[in-house]
Formats: sequence, C-alpha cells, structure tokens
Amino acid sequence: MQVNYWNKAVETIDREPLRELQLKQLRHMVDQAVKTHFYQRRLGKAGITGGNDIRLLDDLQKIPFTTKDDLRQNFPKGLLAVEPEQVVRMHSSSGTTGIPTVIYLTQEDLDQWTDLVARCIVATGCTKQDVFQNMMSYGLFTGGLGLHYGAERVGLMVIPIGGGNTQRQVQVMKDFRTTAVHITPSYLLHIHSRLEEFKTTPKDLFLRKAFLGAEPYSENTRCKLQDLYGIDVYNSYGLSEMNGPGVAFECVYKQDMHIWEDAYIVEIIDPATGTPLPDGEKGELVLTILRRQAMPIFRYRTRDLAFLHKDPCPCGRTHRRLSRILGRTDDMLIIGGVNVFPSQIEEVIMGVPDVGTNYMILLDKHNSLDRLTIQVEIYSKMFTGDMSEIDALKHRIKERLKASITINPHVEIHEPGSLPVFEGKAKRVIDKREKL
Ligand code: AMP
Ligand code: ZN
Repeated sequence: MQVNYWNKAVETIDREPLRELQLKQLRHMVDQAVKTHFYQRRLGKAGITGGNDIRLLDDLQKIPFTTKDDLRQNFPKGLLAVEPEQVVRMHSSSGTTGIPTVIYLTQEDLDQWTDLVARCIVATGCTKQDVFQNMMSYGLFTGGLGLHYGAERVGLMVIPIGGGNTQRQVQVMKDFRTTAVHITPSYLLHIHSRLEEFKTTPKDLFLRKAFLGAEPYSENTRCKLQDLYGIDVYNSYGLSEMNGPGVAFECVYKQDMHIWEDAYIVEIIDPATGTPLPDGEKGELVLTILRRQAMPIFRYRTRDLAFLHKDPCPCGRTHRRLSRILGRTDDMLIIGGVNVFPSQIEEVIMGVPDVGTNYMILLDKHNSLDRLTIQVEIYSKMFTGDMSEIDALKHRIKERLKASITINPHVEIHEPGSLPVFEGKAKRVIDKREKL
C-alpha cells in the first residue's frame, strides 16, 4: 500500500525524541498559561509558577484536570493567554446547556492547526488530484473551516459547500467529479437514501474517500457506507477545545486513528477515579494541547471513551492510535437498571443487512417501567406488501439487540424518509422518561 507523509520526520519520530519534544512544548505552554488568571491560580495551587517547575513529562500529573465547566465559568476571555489584538479567529461550541465555550487562535495557532489537518488528509492517500467537497457546516463549528484550510494546504480543490441541500450536494458531486467528502456519518447515510429520487446511483459518482467525524458511529456503519458507495471511509476525531478536527485521523490502513502526539499529550483515565490507565484499557480520553499560544488547556476531560493501541501501525507512523469513540461518560443510558450506550444499539442495527440508513432510539415509561423503542427505516425494496417478511425482520432486530444489551426493546419498522433527518450532528436519542 502506498504511504505518503506530510512531514515524515515528525510523523515517524522515535518515541524518546517525541517525549523530549513534548516536554519542551509542555514547559512552553505552562509559561504561556500562567499569563491567564485562571491557570495562574490553578497551577499555583499545584506549586507550579512557570515552565521550569515541569522537570519531567510525568510532572503533568501534578496539574489538575480542566473541564468544560471550567471553560464555561471563565467565559468569555478567562483563559485567553495573549493580547486580544493577537487573536485572529474564535470558534465556539454550544454543547447541551447553552452556555458556550469559546476557543481563540492566533495566526500561528491557525497555521499549526492547518498543518495537522494537512497531515491527516495526506495520511488517507489524498493528493492534489482530489476534488474535495466539504459538507460539514461552516461557521462557529470547527468542522467546516478546519478541514477547509488543511485541504487547501495540501492542494486539493476545495468545494466549500457546507451542510444541507441534498439535491444540490449530489449535483455538485456529479458536476465537479468530487472524489473526497468530509461529512457526518448520519448525513452520508441520508444522502444514499435520496439518490434514487435524483435518478443517481453511487456508480454515477466519482467518490473514492469520505472523512467521517463529529459524532460517534460504529465499525458496522463504516462497513455499510463503504459497501453502499464503494468507497474508503476514514474516521476523523477532534473537538473544539483542542482546535477541532485534526486531533486524530486514520491512515490508509484504517486501523484506528493516529493521534498527533507532537501536538497533544494523550492520557486515558478511569473516569470515576481519575487514575491513568495503561494502553489497551478503555477509559476517558484526556488531552493537553501543546501548540496553541492563545489558549493553552491542560488535561482536558473530553468525556469521550476510548483506548489506545499498543502495537505499531504498518504505515510507519509512530504516533499511537486511538480507538473509535466507544461512547461518552455522559451519554450512558440506564434502562431498567441496565447500562446501555447508544453506540451498542447502533452497532447492532447497522449490522442487520435489510435495515436502511436511519434510526432513532426512544425512551419512555410504560406502566411505570422503562420502555425502549427502536425505530428503524428499511430500504424501499423491502416494502413488498408481504407483512411476514417485515415481521421476521423485526424479530431478527429484536433478538440481536436483546443478545447485545440484554433488554427486550420494541422495534418499529418505518418507510425510508419518514424519520428525522440530520445534516449536522445527529440527535438520535429521545428520552422522555424524566418528563413523564
Ligand atoms: P465539538 O467540540 O462540537 O466539535 O464536538 C466534539 C465532540 O464530538 C467530541 O468530544 C466527540 O464526542 C464528538 N466526535 C467528534 N469526532 C468524532 C468521531 N470521529 N467519533 C465519535 N465522536 C466524535
Ligand atoms: Zn498508520
């Protein structure tokens, strides 16, 4: 398999020089952070007044975690570490409570971020020949602009179309012979369900690669999309607090995502105790950014659950690989006392061949007991009028779900196009239990 690098020296650096580089950058970040009121106090309490107090990489452990609440409580400029006139861009993520978190970047920070994204794009085998349709929304969300600048830096032809307007997306894909897209898994699934309406088949497209991120999805969803379109799907992970996309990305081997350790220090911790876990063990991902002047953040609790691979990747990159995001510490559902992650349900549903491209998870109470209902769309070819086939499918889905999550769900079969459509991040879980 052809392996290309954007910056071979850094991407294939030995572990020891990598650790030295991390230490140097960490010291620099601490010097930068103590210029903010927030970190001056927080680091001060831990006995750290500047970069010189960090002697070893392990001294990172002395620094307390930073949480989303810290960012919210210090809204809007409490963590800004440069003069306001040095800031050239801000991004923001609204999250669930409505108080936004804001991230600031200097021109140098933007250049660093763009470089990381360029590295990701090259790792997937894309070249200047590629035509790249960026279907993530532009604006405060980092997904649009992040990939945009990275793709331009590599020299792809960028179509900055943003999200939505499916018919136009498909037309543009045909007109400009789009070879690579950046999109959420939900929206790529949805586009497939509409192709027939536009008298288009995947064979009429020139698509070769899709970069999928912004929301969790299972390996079964990846496989399904690869089969439906006949393309390679690459997982892309990032979060606005760590700039956005470009934190971790899959290479041509698609064996989970290289996380760029010259730019981030990665930890996996036990979410209950905060104790670091060894490679291979599943826990909460905690990240420290090493290259951002305007806004250093140490040991950020992402709430994303994942693990790190121990074995090297055949591509030769030495940066460790992060697993697919297996759920969030805050999206776990407790149904009748059983802990269930939406990702477990998705994995099962997307592994059933006749299930279409959309589904929803509903929770309510029935006779004061928790009730789980799974709504799935099926392909139009399944609607033959033969109810026994549909009943058999319902039964199959039920049995598989029960085997995986130990709960007996209600399963509803829906026609294609009847469930809500998500062009950005999908919200597939509706939990009505508290309100009942
Ligand atoms: P935002 O800060 O709004 O960009 O949201 C970041 C969050 O989106 C992350 O913390 C993850 O929960 C989720 N996310 C981003 N990329 C992925 C991915 N490839 N797989 C699963 N979840 C993702
Ligand atoms: Zn690799």
